[in-house]
Amino acid sequence: MAQSASRQLHHLRKVCRAFRLSDKAEAAGAWPSWPLQLLHGSQPRAYIAGAGASDRPPAFVFDIDGVLVRGNRVLDSAKRAFERLYKDGGQTPRYPVCFLTNGGGVTEEQKADELSSWLGVHVKENQVVLSHTPFKRLLPSLKGPVLVAGMGNVVEVAQHYGFKQLLTPLDVARADPSIAPFWKGRAGCAADSAKEGGQCPVKDLGYGSEEKSIKTVLVFKDPSDWYVDLQVITDICVGGGVIGKWKPEADADQAVKVYFSNPDLLFAGEYPAPRLGQGAFAAALRTLVREVTGRELNHEFMGKPNAAPYELAEQLLCDQAMELGLMDPQQYNAEQEETCPGTTEQAGAREHDSLGQSLSPFSAIYAVGDNPKADIAGALNARARGRPYVAMLVRTGVFSGERANDEEFPADVVVDDVDAAVQAALHRARNMRWHSMR
Ligand SMILES: [Mg+2]
Repeated sequence: MAQSASRQLHHLRKVCRAFRLSDKAEAAGAWPSWPLQLLHGSQPRAYIAGAGASDRPPAFVFDIDGVLVRGNRVLDSAKRAFERLYKDGGQTPRYPVCFLTNGGGVTEEQKADELSSWLGVHVKENQVVLSHTPFKRLLPSLKGPVLVAGMGNVVEVAQHYGFKQLLTPLDVARADPSIAPFWKGRAGCAADSAKEGGQCPVKDLGYGSEEKSIKTVLVFKDPSDWYVDLQVITDICVGGGVIGKWKPEADADQAVKVYFSNPDLLFAGEYPAPRLGQGAFAAALRTLVREVTGRELNHEFMGKPNAAPYELAEQLLCDQAMELGLMDPQQYNAEQEETCPGTTEQAGAREHDSLGQSLSPFSAIYAVGDNPKADIAGALNARARGRPYVAMLVRTGVFSGERANDEEFPADVVVDDVDAAVQAALHRARNMRWHSMR
């Protein structure tokens, strides 16, 4: 019985991943083309349910900073929203719910515990996608020492994911403080470093040497000491992974790759104006490497608005839908899976015929965020790849004021706060279900 459930879950995950809307179908306006009414205010008005009306469950993806909290302050609208979304005294979500944030520096379990205490509902580890959660996918392909950067317990998080041979920029600076001459710290092994068996990663273990060069830099979270981090990461990039090998003129093979968990230039904290985020650090590093070497930094961004976190979130939503009994896996038979759309023109035509939702497990995934460049752009990007996202923008964070919508990345829905967004989404979901029953 357990094996059967596991097989069904595996099958459903494949379906979730396989569903793609073809370019042809999208160009033809098959989906998304809901006449979704733009909202300006806290009270949702009636929607007109259109093409794509469905009795499938809705799902929710929430950004955290600027949507549920500002700094350490939990927004009242967040508590109200989760009273609507949860039942059983806050133990069970009515629909699949996932938290998708460009924040990090903690494990998914720690963030889930934090969310539980903030919102007064039970949030589980498998409902959380942090900015660095997609780093887990790199694990099988990485070899050799890995430099991890960012404030918080990033080494602990990296170890929790299974990464080994870790060191931090501070480990490098402590090995030889003249590397960062304006840094006020001291030489020695750091108590919080990634040293193994009490050994210094650079001096004792040889990380960053010719034999154990550093080919990967993972920026888990915003660095708090830009000077040391910029100096050390620039050193590693210029030296092809070898500390002390400064060869900016070399026709390097881009041996080192830097992964940033969060591309946000700005974020909303307690201060009334937006603050510089990890994207600003990335911009500084890219400029430094370009100025020093004449080459572009070999790098990749993982967080919103990129695809990886949305793919992870949807897998988690599928798992929850199964757990909550909201989906019947039998409806997705093997024959359907074999003919999933998106790979051939013929399949695209089939998709078009069925309004593009025949294999989507959700009527819609409502993505609520405050940052147009991250949350709204990410949801719209995911939709462009054929996923059923609805982009909902709130006015409690980076986006605020009286503007009707963001001009560069206009959302489908603009409301005052997250409670209004949830009300609007539930209203639309009810309307879609009602129309599908007529
Ligand atoms: Mg935010």
